[in-house]
Amino acid sequence: MSSTAPVTADIVAVGSGHNGLVAAAYLAVAGRKVVVLERNAWFGGGVVTRELTLPGFRHDQHSMSPIFFRANPLLKTAGLGLKSRHGLSYIFPEVPMMSVFEDGQTLKLYRDPQRSAAEIAKYSKKDAETFLRVSKQAAAWLPMIASSLYVPPAPVGASNAMLDQSREGRELWRIIQMSSHDHLCDLFENERVRMHFARVAGENLVSPDEKATAIGAYVFLGFLEAYGFGVARGGSGKLTEALIACIQAHGGEVIANADVARIRVSNGRAAGVETKDGRIFNAKDAVIGAIHPHLLGGMIDGMDARVRADAEATHITDAACITVHAALDAPLKYRTPDTVDAVMVEMLPTSYETLRRDFDELRYHQFSPYPLLGAGSLSQFDPSRVPAGKAILHLWDYVPYKRPDGKSWDDTKQQYGEHMLRHMSKFVSNIPDVVLQAHIDSPVDMERTSPSFRHGDLHGIATTTYQSGAHRPTPELGQYTVPGLDRFYLVGPFQHPGGGVFGAGRATAMKMFEALGLNFDKQGRVK
Ligand SMILES: Cc1cc2nc3c(=O)[nH]c(=O)nc-3n(C[C@H](O)[C@H](O)[C@H](O)COP(=O)(O)OP(=O)(O)OC[C@H]3O[C@@H](n4cnc5c(N)ncnc54)[C@H](O)[C@@H]3O)c2cc1C
Repeated sequence: MSSTAPVTADIVAVGSGHNGLVAAAYLAVAGRKVVVLERNAWFGGGVVTRELTLPGFRHDQHSMSPIFFRANPLLKTAGLGLKSRHGLSYIFPEVPMMSVFEDGQTLKLYRDPQRSAAEIAKYSKKDAETFLRVSKQAAAWLPMIASSLYVPPAPVGASNAMLDQSREGRELWRIIQMSSHDHLCDLFENERVRMHFARVAGENLVSPDEKATAIGAYVFLGFLEAYGFGVARGGSGKLTEALIACIQAHGGEVIANADVARIRVSNGRAAGVETKDGRIFNAKDAVIGAIHPHLLGGMIDGMDARVRADAEATHITDAACITVHAALDAPLKYRTPDTVDAVMVEMLPTSYETLRRDFDELRYHQFSPYPLLGAGSLSQFDPSRVPAGKAILHLWDYVPYKRPDGKSWDDTKQQYGEHMLRHMSKFVSNIPDVVLQAHIDSPVDMERTSPSFRHGDLHGIATTTYQSGAHRPTPELGQYTVPGLDRFYLVGPFQHPGGGVFGAGRATAMKMFEALGLNFDKQGRVK
């Protein structure tokens, strides 16, 4: 038990993930005294850059490209000064994503739809024309979709009723309910073109055969073409650093090694928190919590039993993530004669059915026979992350959280990482020779680094229709608040709009401003 005197602030935030920091930064800029508490010795949760292998090699341990961040009004109008005063800047490569097939063929998605269409035409002229129509549709839907991502979600019933009002709305609603596979088969005739887009759906940790995933391709394409995939200069963790600098510039504190054990409740209101080592932090105005729905009930005394049970019953994906971070002696040499210059590279089989069956195996909690490798080597765009002439690799695959052979991930992750690298060598000629040192995060490590990534689900909970929008994570918790507990506000990938670096803490801040009688719009004026 610590004998430290209690600390009192206006706002206490549990967790220094980017969402908690965004919410805290808004409150700090509004003049509130903010204290952010982080259980790790470092900050940022899923948005962190660390020397995981050798000195001078800076790896984005989790997220590498904040795909959905750039449309967030906080970058333009919020006045947090992330770019103008706190050093955040991005590089935008021409090719956000590409598929490399095992036989050396490739398919690139450019920011420019005409160039993507030319790539698709290598496989099917008809599909290239269809792609241009899809791209146009994605651009048309983008403003509506983007406008719903950084604010509290509209009620599910009202949203559906609105879609039902027009022909276009009904068409959108139809696509929303379809599986990616069904819709891709309607759109494209070529297997590789279908597989290319199906793999994009897979990045959301879902099989292309999962119902209600088809809209993902439009969201992804709309963002990719309008905003590109940003690569932060110096590493994805620069966003975390900029947010912390903003909070500190406004008198706030961000404290490491402070593992919060429980939310202190007084008269039905969140009054502060207590850490595992007995430190007390009082909150005069409110508490922000990056707390997974499975853990919430254990941290809030007297939480409504039904709300708690529903939260604990939220579903986690069957596709847990495993990553290999490697320090490389030299850049990767792909076996294809085409240039590999994308932020995200998908290494794919030659048959689409192989990919679909891989996801099926995960549903049965089995390993995929053909690793579904994705990779990024961002030193290609930002050499400041490595010593001169060297490179880094971020490689990922999907696996069952509970191994079917009953072995522990701690005992076997090294072996699985080597298996991933061996498979990668079918696509890359200098792997594994060029690897100087590797760091492997199993799904168990993933949840150790942040409880948000429970069971290796990098979106916190599965991205399904019944856990989306105002029903994410559950209908009771969908507005970032907990029924029966005043002045407590949730942030996390398990809330709307879901996993990814959205800066969704903005929506939580909006709820808090309303409760505290602050004018959210005024934030736009602070530069
Ligand atoms: C391997 C991987 C790759 C990814 N790649 C991408 C990508 O390329 N692009 C993208 O957009 N998204 C990506 N994501 C998803 C993205 O990283 C997350 O959705 C995002 O970081 C979630 O942010 P958050 O602030 O909500 O939560 P988190 O980042 O999880 O932050 C929560 C923080 O709260 C702390 N915390 C929790 N409980 C307590 C407690 N009791 N006391 C004190 N502190 C506590 C945690 O330690 C953590 O630091 C990836 C995720 C993973 C795991």
